[in-house]
Amino acid sequence: MTRINEIISGLQKVTADPEKAVADYTKETGKGAVGICYLYAPDEIFHAAGYLPVGMWGATVPISKARTHLPPFACSVMQAVMELECAGVYDILKAVVFSVPCDTLKCMSQMWKGKCPSLTFCHPQNRKLEASNVFLAEEYRQLKERFEAIIGEKIPDAAIEKSIGIYNANRAVMREFTDVAAEYPDIFDPVKRHAVIKSRFFMEKSRHTALVSELIAEVKKQPKKPWPGKKIILSGIMAEPDGFLDVFRECGMAVAADDLAQEGRQYRVDVPDVPGKEPLYRLARWWQDFDGCSLATDLATVDKGKFRGNMLVDMAKKYRADGVVICMVKFCDPEEFDYPVLYPVLDKAGIPNLMVEVDLEIRSFEQVKTRVQTFRDILG
Ligand code: SF4
Repeated sequence: MTRINEIISGLQKVTADPEKAVADYTKETGKGAVGICYLYAPDEIFHAAGYLPVGMWGATVPISKARTHLPPFACSVMQAVMELECAGVYDILKAVVFSVPCDTLKCMSQMWKGKCPSLTFCHPQNRKLEASNVFLAEEYRQLKERFEAIIGEKIPDAAIEKSIGIYNANRAVMREFTDVAAEYPDIFDPVKRHAVIKSRFFMEKSRHTALVSELIAEVKKQPKKPWPGKKIILSGIMAEPDGFLDVFRECGMAVAADDLAQEGRQYRVDVPDVPGKEPLYRLARWWQDFDGCSLATDLATVDKGKFRGNMLVDMAKKYRADGVVICMVKFCDPEEFDYPVLYPVLDKAGIPNLMVEVDLEIRSFEQVKTRVQTFRDILG
């Protein structure tokens, strides 16, 4: 177990201190990092230029200065990002990239006041048309050109193709990791599982892939133990901070799988091979192939509802989960709009489900604990 603990603890350190990860990378490569704000972006473009794309997911910080710039009903994640921006945390970045699939992100992209430049692009929402792929590939081309102007060098297509391969390899290993973590809940409690996954936002992807592959190989040598507790699926934008996830550990619950934007949605599908097409088009196609997220619109049908609800039912069956927990980021409109369509599908399929609020500002989780304990008791 020593090597397993070493790797997990190393990844936990990376996750706990992204600033150090950026500083180390910059020192080692002489380049730097690009902030991805956030959710889904063509990280491969920046990776191909030798920069480290880092996820901007906020942090557990008391909100004070952010209130001057954002209304109190802006979501908890962007309140935290704005607070960090005001504190100058992002000043070390070469650029910040905004995708704008929700109103709060639109607002943030327009109000960016950090020292580094911001680059904004738009995901089309009528996603299943070929015109959407063409549009998004063009958005990516413009994004690439604006970044090339900042760094003063061209990013060749061959380098982007290579980065797509590196990212797809990481996606594959993360899918394997989440399956392995579900089989070894005694090793991967919800906090440790999350740290292994989140660390991919702050490490060069081929390094992350190598470490997680080694971790998987070491874990597979261990005997599988029966799990006496419950297994759940987490769905939503994110399940943070650690105190929030720790509630599930304390209640004897393991995460069997997830549908979180910060976790499984990032690597659910690969960037596809599209013969004869340039790499930016391939990156655009990822958005078309991707489903089951409140930010990637799909058309609900009267009989089947939205893709996400049915996907969660299938996941619950596949992973033999006892229930689904919807982690609702405070004031996240897209998730709040999805929820009334989602939970009746789970109810109809007989999947027990619970919605709990995620608020990055809070440090006491007693209310969450009461609800999760009750849910566990209902599960029996
Ligand atoms: S998707 Fe939700 S949590 Fe993310 S920025 Fe938009 S409103 Fe906030």
